[in-house]
Amino acid sequence: MSDPFFHPVSGTELPRYAGAPSFMRLPVVTPDHPRFAEVEIGLIGTPWDGGTTNRPGARHGPRQIRDMSTMIRAQHGATGVAPFRLANCADLGDVAPNPAGLEDSMARITAFYRDVVAAGIRPLTGGGDHLCTLPILRALGAEGPLGLIQFDSHTDLFDTYFGGTKFTHGTPFRRAIEEGLIDPVRTVQIGIRGTAYGTEDRDYARDVGITIIPIEAFFERGIAHVMDEAREIVGAAPTYVTYDIDFVDPAFAPGTGTPEVGGPTSYQALQVARALRGLNIIGADLVEVAPPFDASGATAYLGASLMFEMLCHMAEGPL
Ligand code: MN
Ligand code: MN
Repeated sequence: MSDPFFHPVSGTELPRYAGAPSFMRLPVVTPDHPRFAEVEIGLIGTPWDGGTTNRPGARHGPRQIRDMSTMIRAQHGATGVAPFRLANCADLGDVAPNPAGLEDSMARITAFYRDVVAAGIRPLTGGGDHLCTLPILRALGAEGPLGLIQFDSHTDLFDTYFGGTKFTHGTPFRRAIEEGLIDPVRTVQIGIRGTAYGTEDRDYARDVGITIIPIEAFFERGIAHVMDEAREIVGAAPTYVTYDIDFVDPAFAPGTGTPEVGGPTSYQALQVARALRGLNIIGADLVEVAPPFDASGATAYLGASLMFEMLCHMAEGPL
């Protein structure tokens, strides 16, 4: 049973639209807080989109996800899991990026997550664009390569953009493999679709042993079959889950920078997250929510809901 200090504010005590929004109405426990070391799962914002190549705005994601996450109640509707009772959870605040400095921003993110790892906290991140995942993995994967489950409509495996730029939201997992942060043989990418520049990313995936499950196979085989394979690929060893909201069809998640039509519904998006139960998830993120294209807040609400799904698994352990 977790300490009541780390429980969220209930909507029966303070209406959900009231109060300063934190992730899921949890206490804000920044690294200088006296109870920081007691946190077991930390929800973190990375308000940075310096790797974005198309429509910008994911830097505003954490704030809108926090706002919409006030709709999340404390108990899972289908499984009954009550994550805030199982683990000390807190909102660790935002990493302060440098909006005019790409490599500086990445260094700031890595430094923040090193402190989180050193405190024994498992991070659950709301982005930010997908380049945010690379500096997170530099902290989490420092002890050896991790398994990776990636939900995305893109592989993000390109080498360079614009004649030699190695860091964009289309390159993080190429870099993560080069740097030994993730094991390509324990990496699976699910939902890949859309028009392409060419086959460079898929050729690279094949050469290094990454499993790609394109959207056509996803729908033909069905969620249970696909997720069984994903679970086998990562196995019982430490695994990171990265969830790009553009995995979801833009009819359900329009607020993102690089949408691709022909994707899963919001219910199917929840189903794939539920199928991660029991894996050894040492960290997870939900990235690419871009509030300027999310007039209703529906994308951010789905993002918050997916974070809750992953939080439930992380709270069930191992911690
Ligand atoms: Mn991505
Ligand atoms: Mn994507």
